[in-house]
Amino acid sequence: MRFASLASGSRGNCLVAEAGGTRVLLDCGLSPRETARRLGRLGLEPADLAAILVTHEHDDHVGGAFAFAAAHALTVYITRGTLEAVAAAGKALDGVPTELIDGRTGFAVGGIEARPFTVPHDAREPVQYVLGDGARSLGVLTDIGAPTPHVLEMLSGCDALVLECNHDRAMLRDGGYPRWLKERIGGSLGHLDNDQAAGLLGTLERARLQHVIGAHLSQQNNRPALARAALARALGCAEDWIGLATQDEGFGWRELR
Ligand SMILES: [Zn+2]
Ligand SMILES: [Zn+2]
Repeated sequence: MRFASLASGSRGNCLVAEAGGTRVLLDCGLSPRETARRLGRLGLEPADLAAILVTHEHDDHVGGAFAFAAAHALTVYITRGTLEAVAAAGKALDGVPTELIDGRTGFAVGGIEARPFTVPHDAREPVQYVLGDGARSLGVLTDIGAPTPHVLEMLSGCDALVLECNHDRAMLRDGGYPRWLKERIGGSLGHLDNDQAAGLLGTLERARLQHVIGAHLSQQNNRPALARAALARALGCAEDWIGLATQDEGFGWRELR
């Protein structure tokens, strides 16, 4: 099993996971053309994909998903609430095969076992995912206001984690965003700050962890070095062991052995 990211952050998120000969995108917040271009950087083309799993309706996750799925005959896996929100926003859904999923029930896409889990976030019916091949598993957590016992249970024992480190609390507080936006981002239905991410990581069962990657970093309210230091502190590891996903590059292939 292996995984990589095409982009991570408020201007677009897209992760690719591969297991048992199957590849899926987790979210597609880039334009179809940019998605195809960045797949090329990883040695893939759209025809190599089986499906897109969508976590929630925010544009940085679903922006290009339906157009890309329509162009390449990919199935979109999505909760009913997210689909309704996408439809209400006026996105063209015609001709895109969709599979409605339950936010607490696992399903298979070819060789990939997908285990969605519900999260508190200001969206209609958001989920995040643990993706596996039966032996190894990758937990992905972005866009969550605060950790819940359910989330901790789902992410415990994973072999790799991609974990939201959205903002540094002081940078958000002292920065130039309007007050309503600061409250939204820092609130219980917003995004995880570096310390919350580190706290979550510190409470997980993590004996199997081979990769930890900070993701969905704010370009205004965070610095890569702060996110990396927070996660390294939680693990007691060297800072350079912690990976970071970036807006422009995502991150390259990571193998699970
Ligand atoms: Zn997001
Ligand atoms: Zn979101």
